[in-house]
Amino acid sequence: MAIAEVPVRPRTSSSSQSHQGPFINEPFYDFRNEENARKMRAAIERVRGQLGREYDLIIGGQRIKTTDKIKSLNPSKPSQIVGTHQKAGKEHVEPAMKAALKAFDSWKNTSVEERAGLLFRVADLLRQRKMDYMAWLVFEVSKNWGEADADISETIDFCEFYAREALRFAKAETPVQLPGEHDSLSYIPLGVGAVIPPWNFPCAIMAGLVVASIVSGNTVILKPSSDSPTIAAKFIELLEEAGMPEGVVNFCPGAGASFGDAIVAHAKTRYIAFTGSREVGLHINKTAATQAPGQIWIKRTILEMGGKDAIIVDADADIDSAVEGVAQAAFGFQGQKCSACSRAIVDERIYDKFLEQLKTRVEKITVGDPAENSGMGAVINEGSMKTILEFIEQGKKDGRLLTGGTRATEAGEGYYIRPTVFADIPAKSKLEQEEIFGPVLAVIKARGFDHALEIANDTEFGLTGAIYTKSRDKIDRAKRDFHVGNLYINRKCTGAMVGAHPFGGFNMSGTDSKSGGPDYLYLFTQAKSVAEKIG
Ligand code: NAD
Repeated sequence: MAIAEVPVRPRTSSSSQSHQGPFINEPFYDFRNEENARKMRAAIERVRGQLGREYDLIIGGQRIKTTDKIKSLNPSKPSQIVGTHQKAGKEHVEPAMKAALKAFDSWKNTSVEERAGLLFRVADLLRQRKMDYMAWLVFEVSKNWGEADADISETIDFCEFYAREALRFAKAETPVQLPGEHDSLSYIPLGVGAVIPPWNFPCAIMAGLVVASIVSGNTVILKPSSDSPTIAAKFIELLEEAGMPEGVVNFCPGAGASFGDAIVAHAKTRYIAFTGSREVGLHINKTAATQAPGQIWIKRTILEMGGKDAIIVDADADIDSAVEGVAQAAFGFQGQKCSACSRAIVDERIYDKFLEQLKTRVEKITVGDPAENSGMGAVINEGSMKTILEFIEQGKKDGRLLTGGTRATEAGEGYYIRPTVFADIPAKSKLEQEEIFGPVLAVIKARGFDHALEIANDTEFGLTGAIYTKSRDKIDRAKRDFHVGNLYINRKCTGAMVGAHPFGGFNMSGTDSKSGGPDYLYLFTQAKSVAEKIG
């Protein structure tokens, strides 16, 4: 059974949406339609034929080869190389910065219409090749078809949305015009940004950080995750085809701790747009706060970090839909979403019934090759698999294993782990507090709604959360007191849609930014006020 199916909206004329009209989210495919399934299988075969190619660093438009390489492997079949990449080292920091600074001189003066036009063209190209891009995600990070669709659709949405936003920002006006003056306000670019994305939404988050940067007039040094550089290289191909000038985005796969650290620390880096773990985010924040010799600004940091997201199931909830929502949010993309439900906090009055139904539902999830559109694919790499299995061993001590709890070796050589649920996990235990980032759900028993809310809020994080209840009073209290950046009522806590659900968390989940929202481009710009005396 497929898990984490995204709600299917029919593909309509919006797939060639007018760039002038209102923003419409990119529709998802319905794979129950055999024609769509057939096309997806064909895309997978086309991409299979392109696996193992080599990709260059791209600095100022120059293709560069290095001795050290990064090999991107298929998590479902680690013997299969998805792409071989050059590895940027410290010696590439200066050339990348020089190229980005040079491009900034002209890119910052291009019209907003030109910059938005680039994003619109990229969105159009991506629509034409959507299934091929989805297929790359199947191979590079083990997403099933629905998850891959959600990732590429969000990429298209980011291009469309931020292009419109940039055009809107360009029309900003001062609230007051003084007599005898012409008073204006404009949002100007910052400079060169270090863009450092994770592997889990390897197209959408990577592309979102890049296009928000460049549509605002900045230039970028992009260091993709070493687990997913191929989809980033494919996205750069689209930018180039759409007419991006050389040096506007410099493509530099490399190790976080060497190349990544060095671009964060560089005196000419104006801002860092990062999404990833709490540990690396805090490290970047600290490095960025230290003034480098020759640095004349305070570096801006946009840091989107981890979560320990909870779904509260109240005594009067519709148990069927709560079970479905929890199962989808916990195990979609193997639980490797920052928004994934890793805690279900359930009222003691329905606890046993909920567990019984949840066990039945979770045991229907198929684990196997995502190329065959299994419910769950493999986790990202061997290190991650080991960490998740350690958490599982801890869970066996702290709670009661309800289902799963082992590798799914029958699925193949990949890093497959069975969807795992622990019941009776105590509040404040390791499993209840720490981000696992894998297919492991902790179920916690609550004495009532107040207790559930107290448990839900009692972590360092504050990213997403959901509550299932029929009580208006409890909904209102959750809206006020459930301290998360993205709260969902009577639906799962994953699947944020650009525009409708601006995304980003509180506390250790990040710097309170909201991607896909109306404030986002402020983070990539600075406001300049000009008062001109008339006459
Ligand atoms: P990660 O922190 O390990 O890596 C993220 C990026 O940082 C990678 O490109 C990595 O190479 C780079 N990096 C590592 N060390 C660095 C250093 N010292 N200096 C500069 N860059 C460095 O995270 P990950 O495993 O790729 O992604 C999973 C994490 O991302 C989870 O914690 C998840 O919750 C979080 N995440 C958050 C959001 C959000 O919107 N809040 C979205 C997706 C993922």
